[in-house]
Amino acid sequence: MPEQHGVYRRVMLAVDLTEESNYVARRAVALAKACDAELRIVHVIEPLSLAYGGDIPMDLSTVQEQIHDQARSHLAEFAATLGVPEDHQYLIFGRPESEIQRVAEAKGADVIVVGSHGRHGLALLLGSTANGVLHGANCDVLAVRVGEVETTTEEPDDSAGV
Ligand code: AMP
Repeated sequence: MPEQHGVYRRVMLAVDLTEESNYVARRAVALAKACDAELRIVHVIEPLSLAYGGDIPMDLSTVQEQIHDQARSHLAEFAATLGVPEDHQYLIFGRPESEIQRVAEAKGADVIVVGSHGRHGLALLLGSTANGVLHGANCDVLAVRVGEVETTTEEPDDSAGV
């Protein structure tokens, strides 16, 4: 819950570390700034066995370790550009939806910021990370619309209106 005066105190930004993360991050930074809130950042590494249903007949531990190392340095780099200190960066192993919720709750976040694609048809039925986070989160969730809008270098267009 936002504490006094309905203002957020701790913003948890969830990033998949793709290009769109820059756009989503801008919203989170702007929100944190406007509320004078702390900004924290989380990236979840999905176990390969989860992504591929455990069907690969080989030892994936070395590959998984490499993915982990890469994600760690990528997250550190990304967080540094936002001025988020190391102890406010969380690299977690597991299922993104539930881990984002879990870390947000554990760290006392009062709002989670995620990217959300305007999905249609089957993709909508299958859901998305933003949907998964929203259902069951104990705090507010800001779903930043990405995908159909400019996702990289442009500032979010606040003049769009209506
Ligand atoms: P998706 O629905 O999977 O395309 O992801 C939409 C948004 O969910 C991203 O912009 C992130 O905010 C968040 N997200 C997805 N995957 C992850 C992940 N592995 N770690 C942290 N956040 C994620």
